[in-house]
Amino acid sequence: MTIGLNEIVQAQERIADHLRRTPLISSAALTTLCGAPIHLKLESRQATGSFKLRGATNAVLSLSDEARQRGLVTASTGNHGRALAHAASAQGARAVVCMSALVPGNKVDAVRALGADVRIVGHSQDDAQQEVERLVTEAGLTEIPPFDHAAVIAGQGTIGLEIFEDCPGVDLVLVPLSGGGLASGVAAAIKGRLPRARVIGVSMARGAAMHESLRAGKPVAVEELETLADSLGGGVGLNNQYTFAMCRDLLDDVVLLTEDEIAEGIRHAFVAEGEMVEGAGAVGIAALLASKVEVRGPTVVLVSGRNIDEARHRQLVSHREDAAGGRS
Ligand SMILES: *Cc1c(COP(=O)(O)O)cnc(C)c1O
Repeated sequence: MTIGLNEIVQAQERIADHLRRTPLISSAALTTLCGAPIHLKLESRQATGSFKLRGATNAVLSLSDEARQRGLVTASTGNHGRALAHAASAQGARAVVCMSALVPGNKVDAVRALGADVRIVGHSQDDAQQEVERLVTEAGLTEIPPFDHAAVIAGQGTIGLEIFEDCPGVDLVLVPLSGGGLASGVAAAIKGRLPRARVIGVSMARGAAMHESLRAGKPVAVEELETLADSLGGGVGLNNQYTFAMCRDLLDDVVLLTEDEIAEGIRHAFVAEGEMVEGAGAVGIAALLASKVEVRGPTVVLVSGRNIDEARHRQLVSHREDAAGGRS
């Protein structure tokens, strides 16, 4: 099953009044470094601090009134939970968010502050997911998953339509990649409008579930490891319905980054671009800084979120540290 341009254009109409159209800004520093125009699509400035509000809003608005009233539930590493909490409360619906104990405290607090019911269960995304399934079966809630869902993918794809509107000559789009909802939607939109454009996924080397799955030719489980790009943690789901096939068919490549490279991306975003960006949001910038992609023409870097612990961010931008915390 795949999502195409029609679904994404419908999503754009459905969600337009409910969230921000984020800016595409030109990066002088990266343009000089790469020798081609580099633009940043700042979803870090989206309400709730990440692009996840697009998919969550499209999914909530696509439900029947009756399903919305029974309540919504998800497992999330943070940003999707936060987005669903916001999207649900905007429609007067209840949201329950199940998270593993690995999720940073600032993200848990943010979801609670948006009025959602937070349940902390186990130490992996899989444990949190089991609690979701229990609430669907026993309490009749509707699950809105973080990536493998038609309305979520179409919502994320609206970023691709905006990129094309603002940069019609785009040659390459760099997209942070975890479960692949973002990459699937954006690639479907970009390639639907401009088949010759390239779309490359960027993940951390520590626990890159979609990368491992694409190499294996089917969804595989990977060990979940701590990473600066914590929003990219978690598996793709062994019963993946949409995003595995879409990433396989639409992505031109996937590149992987070390923790030090991701730290450089966060630092560059702040020091050279003046943007507060979380690890997952900085991977496209990091891939350019590390010369891991071939730039041939106008390039758009999708900066996906800003929700990083403030103390951690301050430490990263003020010291040159390695990922283990020691000075280098
Ligand atoms: C969820 C998320 C991603 C990855 O999105 P997928 O659809 O799971 O691939 C990237 N960046 C941020 C900030 C996120 O919250």
